[in-house]
This record gives sequence, C-alpha cells and structure tokens, in this order.
Amino acid sequence: MDKLYSPATMAKIREKHGFRHSKSLGQNFLTDINIIDAIIEGSEIGSEDLVIEIGPGMGVLTAAAAEAAGRVIAVEIDRHLIPILKDTLAEYDNIEIINADIMKTDLTELIESNRQAGRVRIIGNLPYYITTPIVMKLLEERVPADSITIMMQKEVADRMKAEPGGKTYGALTVAVGFYCTVSHVANAPKEVFVPRPKVDSTVIRLDIREKPPVELINEKIFFETIKNGFGQRRKTLLNSLTGVQGLAKEQIGEALKSAGIDPKRRAETLSLKEFAELANSIVNTLKNR
Ligand code: SAM
Repeated sequence: MDKLYSPATMAKIREKHGFRHSKSLGQNFLTDINIIDAIIEGSEIGSEDLVIEIGPGMGVLTAAAAEAAGRVIAVEIDRHLIPILKDTLAEYDNIEIINADIMKTDLTELIESNRQAGRVRIIGNLPYYITTPIVMKLLEERVPADSITIMMQKEVADRMKAEPGGKTYGALTVAVGFYCTVSHVANAPKEVFVPRPKVDSTVIRLDIREKPPVELINEKIFFETIKNGFGQRRKTLLNSLTGVQGLAKEQIGEALKSAGIDPKRRAETLSLKEFAELANSIVNTLKNR
C-alpha cells in the first residue's frame, strides 16, 4: 500500500469505503511522518511493550506503533473506521482494534489482561472535544501505564504545562501536576492534518508519579479548594474560598493564615505545594470547628 499517512492515500481510502470525516468526533487525521515519529520516539516504545492507542482513525499511528511495540491495542469509537482499520493494518499481526468509547473502557482491566514483558505506553492524537476528560480519566483512575504521549490542542497543552502566575495556569495545571510530570514532545501546525483543524496542536508526554509530590490529609478537599479558587479566579482567595466545606469567611481567613498565605492573593499565584498546605489547613480548621 502507498504510504498510509499521505493525503492521497487517505482520499483513496475515503472513496473506497465511502467514509466521511465526523467533525463531532474530532476526526483530524495526521499526515506528517515527522510528527508520527515524534510521538513514537517520545513515548520510547520498546519491542516488548504494550501500546494502548486512543482513537486510531485510519491507523497511521497504530501502524508506526506496531513496528516498534510487542502488541498494540487501539480503541476507536467510530464503527465506520473499523473495516478501514482492518484493511489498512492487515499486514500486522500484533494489533487489536476495539470498537468502543474510551470514556467507557476499563483501561486498567484492559492493560492488566494484556500485559507484555515490557512497559505500558498510552499514545494518541486525541479528539479535541474530549481531551481534558480523557486525560483526567487516565490520571484519576491511575491507569497502570508508564507513559502517556498525546497530541492535543496547543492551548490545552499550554494549560497543562503552565507555571503559577500566568493566565494559562489553572485548575487543570494543578490537577495534572498532582498526578504526573509534563514534558513537551513536539509542535504540530494545523497544516499537518486532514481535514485541517482551526487550531495548532502540541504533543506532550505525561509520566505518572509513583507518589504524589505533596502530602494531603484529604484529597477531596484539596480538589474542592482548587475548583473553588479558580472558579472565581479574579476574586481574592478569602472570597473565592468562603463556603468551601461550609466554612465562613472568618474560618477561611484562619485557614489561610495558618497556611502562611496572604488572604488577598488569588488562586493563580498559588503553587501546587501551597494549595496542598491550604487544603490541609482547611481540614484542620474543620476539625477544630
Ligand atoms: N490517530 C488518528 C490520526 O492521528 O490520524 C486519528 C486521530 S483523530 C484526532 C481522533 C480519533 O479519535 C478519531 O478517529 C475519532 O473517531 C476517535 N474518537 C473520538 N472520540 C472517541 C472516543 N470517545 N473513544 C474512542 N475514540 C474516539
């Protein structure tokens, strides 16, 4: 077969199978071998590794992953792509395609029952409409993967990688930083996709931490503090956090004081460590109430 990632091959496949891209499923397919290689190399796939791919599309990344890995399992929601994938990936005997919604897939079970001798790598050129929910699902479920190398809208990647103090720093940054470290892999301009999306993309790699970087007394209250702080990010912490766990302004003031945080500061200036200290201080305030 001609090179699968070439727009001409994709056009032929579309015609042969009567396939039409679904905008609502975020079907922007990759046509640049350099970006495909960057994702494969960035995820450091070894010959004994299990690769889980989210949204294989026509299979450009799947084929490249199969060349490098022991086994590849790709989860694709669109049933119209299944016969296409059977066709485009026919020469590989180490690929399994599952027709399912990644949000409804038990990834831990899938990984544990298909483990190979090597590591577990999750890869994907993620559909835009659902990037953050997919990433949060992987992290909150603490999927047993060694790395997650994924393409997403540049703006979302910028939020995941942000430092305190800027506009892009928010609840997503702190949540992602709690579960993993983030590194930049590659940039992908809109021109490398068919059809072209309106925005540029970035490939990042997430490495799940073995243990959280901060000690928390109560994880739920930590996330509630972050959510409330950024929910009204222009307000001071004293105001935005009033009401957390039913606490009055005065008690939030006490919690901020004992965490050593100026009540006039805003959420976007707090580091992950400060959020943890503040959440622990809120828990202690609740205990002494
Ligand atoms: N990997 C291919 C590539 O790079 O050319 C396709 C990437 S395209 C941006 C996203 C893919 O995810 C599409 O094939 C789409 O049908 C699939 N998809 C969308 N929502 C999904 C979901 N909830 N579960 C699994 N796959 C999904």
